[in-house]
Amino acid sequence: MLRYIRIGILLTILVVVAGNQWLTENRFSSWEKPLWISIYPVLAEPGEGVRRYAENLDAAAFEDIVEFFGQQARRYGRELEPAIVIQVARPLTAQPPALPTEGSRLDTALWSLKMRWWSWRNGRQDGMVSDDVRMYVLYQERKPDTALERSVGIKNGSYGLVNAVASRREAAHNRIVIAHELLHILGAIDKYDLNTGQPLPPGGLADPSKSPLYPQERAEIMGGRIAVSANRWRHPASLAYCVIGAETAAEIGWITNQP
Ligand SMILES: [Zn+2]
Repeated sequence: MLRYIRIGILLTILVVVAGNQWLTENRFSSWEKPLWISIYPVLAEPGEGVRRYAENLDAAAFEDIVEFFGQQARRYGRELEPAIVIQVARPLTAQPPALPTEGSRLDTALWSLKMRWWSWRNGRQDGMVSDDVRMYVLYQERKPDTALERSVGIKNGSYGLVNAVASRREAAHNRIVIAHELLHILGAIDKYDLNTGQPLPPGGLADPSKSPLYPQERAEIMGGRIAVSANRWRHPASLAYCVIGAETAAEIGWITNQP
């Protein structure tokens, strides 16, 4: 009996999440008006440095992302000016639900639901415009020998979690990660080898028709890195060295037929 109740509850959750995603998908793919993105800095660690850094963030700190989306949209004939608008919330001390380590679909769906609840409880602040997407950016100290936890943007969900270092030196890198996760939310998929990090041609390359193909000069944002050769890559220094390739543009609804 209990088993049926549990299955029933899970099915209900999945139907709700699926329905919500369908609605969101429709809303995102039209691109008829700018998307409003709220960035919520989260104090992932108690230190004074992290707090001071997060409290000083404003929309100008993320202007690169707005410019990037505007410029790239124009390449595909989308004359939305701007394509996205970013507003920055006051830093939060409440911590969002931890990401599941194993990403089964059900775990992710459950996390997504917890996240929605958490976001509803913690995300409301006076003076903010109602948004389409919320990016929670977890600011922490730089720890030389530890990699940051992964970042995530749920496809066609309404929010992402980004792990970021609270430092000016890392700000350009943080903006790349935020743009990448935002594109996941808008429907884009990864275009790099998950084991090696190598961008996968053709979609993961900024210029897949270049001859010779390597070295590439820029990174396709979902390929994530600049492919120096077929098996070597380097990090782009900023969004100025990134583009949105044709495959990604098709995935987010900027072009309807791929060339
Ligand atoms: Zn990704």
